[in-house]
Amino acid sequence: MKLLEDRIRKDGKILPGDVLKIDNFLNHQVDTKLMEEIGEEFYRLFKDSGATKILTIESSGIAIAQATSKYFGYLPFVFAKKTVAANMAKNAYEAKETSYTRNIEYTVQVSREYLNENDKVLILDDFLANGEAMNSLIQICRQANAEVVGCGSVVCKTYQPGEKRIKDLGYEVKVLARIKSMSEDGQIEFEEQEE
Ligand code: 5GP
Repeated sequence: MKLLEDRIRKDGKILPGDVLKIDNFLNHQVDTKLMEEIGEEFYRLFKDSGATKILTIESSGIAIAQATSKYFGYLPFVFAKKTVAANMAKNAYEAKETSYTRNIEYTVQVSREYLNENDKVLILDDFLANGEAMNSLIQICRQANAEVVGCGSVVCKTYQPGEKRIKDLGYEVKVLARIKSMSEDGQIEFEEQEE
């Protein structure tokens, strides 16, 4: 997605540990116009998936899911909650995720009330790095016997293992900006889009 790549080039900062900081439009302050474009693009990529619900993870996924929901005719979306301690709400599905940026383990939770075997789920997130976050959402769908009909990430660092990991589990993965390499002096190289 050209608009997104241009914005990453303009505003992205590269931090140690292979972290792209895009806090001024996605991860802290949110550019709602760009978010709408992101939602429209996810709709274009997944409109034939049969999705009946969007699943994401707090906090940055929320704006992405909301923008996408609109283009799907206001599909409901659910965001998984992260807790550091493992004391579970009684009525929840749970999975573990090791945070890429914080390097701590979370328990990811979704209430049983909001996901079940009738759901066809489109999973969306902001970044795909090692695939931990997306894998935790897939595990939660499996527990709910919900069908995962697609996985979308706004940014993927394609030199990290996440995309392959999720594809190897048998899921379709679509990405809006594919980063082939980045270096701390600010150089970011993008891969060609698949479609
Ligand atoms: P993964 O679970 O695939 O290893 O990493 C994805 C999660 O970690 C995302 O939900 C995102 O919050 C965070 N993350 C991974 N890489 C980056 C990055 O380069 N920049 C930012 N801002 N977040 C990242």
